[in-house]
Amino acid sequence: MKIISNPSSNPVAADERNKKVLEPGFGKYYTDNMVIAQWNENTGWADAKLEAYGPLTLDPATMVFHYGQEVFEGMKAYVQPDGGVSLFRPEANAKRFAKSAARIALPEMPVDFFVQTIEALVKADKEWVPKKIGESLYLRPFMIATEVGLGVRPSNHATYVLIATPAAAYFNADKAVTVWISTEYVRAALGGTGEAKCGGNYAASLLAQKQAAKEGCDQVAYIDAVERKWVEEMGGMNLYFIKGSGKDAKIMTPKLTGTLLPGITRDSILTLANDLGFKTEETMISIDDWRDGVKSGEITEIFACGTAAVVSAVGAAKSIHGTWQTGDGKPGPITNQIRAGLLGIQHGSTPDKHGWNKRVI
Ligand SMILES: *Cc1c(COP(=O)(O)O)cnc(C)c1O
Repeated sequence: MKIISNPSSNPVAADERNKKVLEPGFGKYYTDNMVIAQWNENTGWADAKLEAYGPLTLDPATMVFHYGQEVFEGMKAYVQPDGGVSLFRPEANAKRFAKSAARIALPEMPVDFFVQTIEALVKADKEWVPKKIGESLYLRPFMIATEVGLGVRPSNHATYVLIATPAAAYFNADKAVTVWISTEYVRAALGGTGEAKCGGNYAASLLAQKQAAKEGCDQVAYIDAVERKWVEEMGGMNLYFIKGSGKDAKIMTPKLTGTLLPGITRDSILTLANDLGFKTEETMISIDDWRDGVKSGEITEIFACGTAAVVSAVGAAKSIHGTWQTGDGKPGPITNQIRAGLLGIQHGSTPDKHGWNKRVI
């Protein structure tokens, strides 16, 4: 599909932009442009444009405001050693976006078209890509139901929007995040939308997040909805548990049972850990395994992973059953090794054996 390019005639001045890119934060500044495209039942995808970043004007009766029919993605563009820019596994995001859309009864966007929109925005806003290792241009594609009407049924009109924000490195080398294991609220049940990346999952998680903050925790870890004992994931990151140390370490992650979001970082780490010589396992891990494992010292490190934070060490875990600590509360050596390995590939400083990077510039 052709994207009509009509970039901003009033971009942020270079010195002001450079200041923002040097101290990017996350979601604090948005680039000069965005991509927008429309879908309806009769024409399919049409009217794709790259244009100045700005507000959307929508009728108050637009369906997304009432029934939450929305899906999104999160991905990053990374600066390369020669100053070029690469995306990390963008086709994987494109495929997941289509699967999420299908689950929410929104139209599937063709993989090629999705990747084309991402490349177009990164090229147009390339000056917004931060230059330091660990920093990136975070891309947020999303799709909303834009038919006007209050009848409850799948929308016959959808709008796709892609925006971008420069993102700082999200890692604290001295501190692990603390998690609240929620036994009251569940994130997803089989047959629900846990596998889809949709706003609704996040809306349902915010109260548990609030509770976690009240308990002095940074994040929530969710358990399964049926037996209420199997560890699934955090609100926006997958989890990894490490048993043992050195070359004999085993790196384990909860199995994709149909209720977990299949993270691209999670998937990449399974491969990367094998490349680094570790054993890996996708398995069922219970709250008891977690508590007993860290208490006995069998579980040596825990980390969370996702595009936004890449890899984040998990320290203390707290629930109604008590509090227990992993290791010394600081990121462990294997967590650091995996994080460095992944960032090395993403930034083009270590060989990309699996063809994960897609060069854009
Ligand atoms: C996006 C997301 C993840 C992480 O997925 P990545 O593809 O690694 O960014 C994990 N869990 C949930 C609920 C998510 O929405």
